[in-house]
Amino acid sequence: MRNLSDAQRAAVTTAIEQLAWTVVRETLELEPDDGPCSNLPDADMRQMWLAALTSLLAIRESTEQLAASAALSAAQRGADYPAIGDAAGMTRQGARRKWPGLAGLSDERQRKLTWWNRRGDQFADCVRAVLTTADLESPRLTVLRERLDEIEQTSPAQRIDVFDMALVDAHAVAVGTPRPTEPTAAYANGLLAALTADAYAAMNSHSFLVNREGLACETDNCSSEPIVELWRSDYGHRTIAACREHAIQALAQPATRIVAAYQPDAALSVFAEAHGED
Ligand SMILES: [Zn+2]
Repeated sequence: MRNLSDAQRAAVTTAIEQLAWTVVRETLELEPDDGPCSNLPDADMRQMWLAALTSLLAIRESTEQLAASAALSAAQRGADYPAIGDAAGMTRQGARRKWPGLAGLSDERQRKLTWWNRRGDQFADCVRAVLTTADLESPRLTVLRERLDEIEQTSPAQRIDVFDMALVDAHAVAVGTPRPTEPTAAYANGLLAALTADAYAAMNSHSFLVNREGLACETDNCSSEPIVELWRSDYGHRTIAACREHAIQALAQPATRIVAAYQPDAALSVFAEAHGED
């Protein structure tokens, strides 16, 4: 562990003690200057120390949560397990046991940032288009509208976490709400579906894409490599894997939507070609 000096440790202990007694005073509704004092009856002192015990353990619990959050944030910004272990005064294996799942997070964050830097504006424009053309109100649209406002008000450093949630909400709207009948609205909705599909493909780890190996296009007897996954009403409302050619054909049907991309940018490129704009 990166050592704190004796003076720093003493200062930490003092601060924690003050915090604990502040909580005790609040809990027992005492005066600001009240505290353990030898001229108080044992019964009062006992109650104070028991409340102090409770509050110190609550502080420990909060500290553990904050430490886990710090480990996560450090990992997202490139800290590996040896570095986290070093900071926490434990071995690499110890850190991995205590906070599993932190490896590779910085890559994932980097992929997200890369995607948002390239497509974030287009995504936001598309969400706005969907919101202004939606022909019926649904709770999902309300959530998405709030999320868009949140993105605009959030500092760039925190924006990525909001983007994450916006993506989930946008996907739910694009794929989970009835397709609008008006052509402009339907286009905006289809574009949003394609954008979110590409975003997931760009952000997911390589293993997610590799797992799709061995899958073939599910149209007729086509054996071409699928590049997107479609929702087609004529396929019994299930999703099917489709090659580029069959995806473009299927998108001529108004109800078809792209729900996933198997390659970076595949959904957007298929959507554009299906709408004659390559
Ligand atoms: Zn095919």
